[in-house]
Amino acid sequence: MIIIATPVLIFIFGLLIGSFLNVCIFRIPLKKTIVKGRSYCPSCNSPIPWYCNIPLFSYIFLKGRCRNCKEKISLIYPTVELLNAVLYLLIWKVYGLTVPAIFFAALFSILVIISFIDFKYQIIPDGLVLTILILGVANGIYQTTVLNVPWYNWVVGFFAASVPLLILGLIFPEGMGGGDIKLMAATGLFIGWKLILLSLFIGALYGGIVSIFVILVKKGSLKTALPFGPMLSLGIVTCVLTGNQLLSWYLSIFL
Ligand SMILES: [Zn+2]
Repeated sequence: MIIIATPVLIFIFGLLIGSFLNVCIFRIPLKKTIVKGRSYCPSCNSPIPWYCNIPLFSYIFLKGRCRNCKEKISLIYPTVELLNAVLYLLIWKVYGLTVPAIFFAALFSILVIISFIDFKYQIIPDGLVLTILILGVANGIYQTTVLNVPWYNWVVGFFAASVPLLILGLIFPEGMGGGDIKLMAATGLFIGWKLILLSLFIGALYGGIVSIFVILVKKGSLKTALPFGPMLSLGIVTCVLTGNQLLSWYLSIFL
C-alpha cells in the first residue's frame, strides 16, 4: 500500500506546488503580490471558485476554457503543474525521501518559474536568484555538517561557471545576460562545482541543438533571441538527476 501511495502523494504534492508556481510565473513579472489575492480569469476577471482551480484536473474538466466567458485558458497552467509533479517524482526516484531531495525539489521549482519568465520576458528576476542563493547556503551547511561534503565544493561552485560566463559576457556584451551569470553563481553554490560545470556544458549543448532547430525548421536567423535561462535550467536539472553517472562515464573515457 505504502509503495503505491508514496509516488501518488508526491505527484499530487507536485501538482499543488505547480499551481503556486503558475501564480509566481504570471504575477512576478507584473510586480504583483504572490502571497495573497484570489485567482481571477485574466480575460473576464471573474473569480475562479476553488473547485475550478484544482491543478491539472480542472483544466481537463473545463476542456481548457474559462467557466464563465469560455475564453481559452493558457496551456502554460497545466504544463507547469504536470512538469513540476514529474520533476518531483524524478527527484524521489533518484534521491528518495531525504533532506537533499527536498532542497533539490525547491531548486527545480524555482528553475521552472525562472524558465517560463525568461522565455516570455527575457529576464531572470533577482528575487528568484536570491532565493536559490539562500536555499543553497542552507543546503551547503546541511551537506557539509551532516554528510561531510567539503565546504569548498560550494564556494568553488559559486565561481566555477559564473566567472567563465562573466568573461564571455565582457567579450560579447550582446550575447550573455547578467541574469544568466547570477543564476549560475547561485546554483553553483547550491549544487557544487562539478555539477555546475557539467550543467553549463549540457545547457550550452541544449542551446546549440535548439538554435540549429530554430534556424533549420522555423527559418529563424542566428539573431533570433534565444533565452539562455531555460537551457541552463534544463542542463542543471539533467545534471542533478544524472550528474554523478554522467561524470563517471565522462571520466572513464579519459582514464
Ligand atoms: Zn473568463
